[in-house]
Amino acid sequence: MLFTASQLMKLFPRHQGNVSADLEIHEVVHDSRVNTNHGLYVPIAGERFDGHQFIGGAVENGAAAAFWQKEKPLPSNLPDSLLILFVEDTVKALQELAVAYRKDVNPTVIGITGSNGKTTTKDLTNAVMQTTFKTHATKGNFNNHIGLPLTILSMDRKTEVLILEMGMNHFGEIEMLSKIGEPNQAIITNIDGQHIENLGSKEGIAKAKLEIVSGIKPEGTLVIDGDEPLLTDAAVPVAKTRVGFSEDNDVVVRNITVEEETTTFDAGEKTYQIPLLGKHHAKNAAYVIQLASGMGIAPETIQKAFGQLEMTKMRFEKHTGKNGITIINDAYNASPASMKASIQVVEEMKGYQHKILVLGDILELGDYAEEFHRGIADVIHSDITAVYTYGNHSHYIHDELKKKGTELIAVHLQDKQELVNQIEQYLKPENLILLKASRGMKFETFLEQLR
Ligand code: ATP
Ligand code: MG
Repeated sequence: MLFTASQLMKLFPRHQGNVSADLEIHEVVHDSRVNTNHGLYVPIAGERFDGHQFIGGAVENGAAAAFWQKEKPLPSNLPDSLLILFVEDTVKALQELAVAYRKDVNPTVIGITGSNGKTTTKDLTNAVMQTTFKTHATKGNFNNHIGLPLTILSMDRKTEVLILEMGMNHFGEIEMLSKIGEPNQAIITNIDGQHIENLGSKEGIAKAKLEIVSGIKPEGTLVIDGDEPLLTDAAVPVAKTRVGFSEDNDVVVRNITVEEETTTFDAGEKTYQIPLLGKHHAKNAAYVIQLASGMGIAPETIQKAFGQLEMTKMRFEKHTGKNGITIINDAYNASPASMKASIQVVEEMKGYQHKILVLGDILELGDYAEEFHRGIADVIHSDITAVYTYGNHSHYIHDELKKKGTELIAVHLQDKQELVNQIEQYLKPENLILLKASRGMKFETFLEQLR
């Protein structure tokens, strides 16, 4: 049970409906098509549809209560037994409700933000925490102003540790999410170039991520990417632990080996192995080790959880393509740091004759598109055979490679079919292709054609 009608009527004093005070509300839904047993329907006004229009459907599907934006006309045919709670703004009301429920259940809250690696770190955290505590975590990528309160409202009353992913595109968003969640512990995974269009600069992005501080409980702590120069002591005015590769960090991640299916590394005094590829994931895991150790979970238990990890969605997906070639599809999304990280992982992978990179545009970089795309070339070294670029911005990568005068083959194309044709020659079992671009570049079509 989430709330009784009387609790709801106290929180939202303007209401109507002939309901008994001890009517129980068991869940919160924002989709009127979902079947609900004693649910509270939250109509949300979107760009194309307004959820208020679908109140009838929500009632048919079992809603016992609903928020209602106060100036919207109420349909006359609603049942008398429906509890209507009039509010200024249904999304804000949803958030208020989430805060009330979170305070009532009172779990230890872990908030996770950063430009890259939030979902991965959230999944790692959940895997480790559930060895010892009853956990509830963000499903998939439900990390925004609607997804986060819905996540809170779907937790069981017995939840001991609540793990919340916090995403953002603009200033103020992380502050809002952090105040809803009030983390006891938080992680900032890294700072990178996405959404720079909205935030002005990388400093702006760092500032936006640091908004998480405003919601952290007074005794709370923050784990940060200690290798990020923008996260200085002055910029981060709370108790913090720096985790990273450089030796001056509080927790140093060392001796990283990336193998076929796993990455092995040392964090502090211990050695760990994760079923994820790349040193950036070793760092994500180290954040989690730091938090979990602080909560009394033993290294052996942490390692066991890593070994049994099930990721929300493997981002660095390995496929076998035509003629047995290995294809790595990491084109779910891209930012400058994640593109570099993927390329570095591919460079570290052993046992391939030719490694081919197929790189597309990183979107949402605004005026910084040229600078960030050119920067990608810095991590492309000679063990790569060929780099194919496709799109409107990725030609800067191409241009930079040409300028560097490396031996590798660099080809820029604007035609997807032509690109596939050119790659044909490499389709052999001893070769490997990396597909990496922003999601908007629709690189899954390459995957289909190469499989
Ligand atoms: P989204 O904004 O889509 O929610 P996210 O922050 O949840 O993204 P993940 O989905 O965990 O991030 O990872 C996305 C990609 O970011 C991965 O494929 C990986 O290449 C890269 N990545 C993960 N962790 C890091 C890190 N610490 N530093 C740099 N890149 C990383
Ligand atoms: Mg995510």
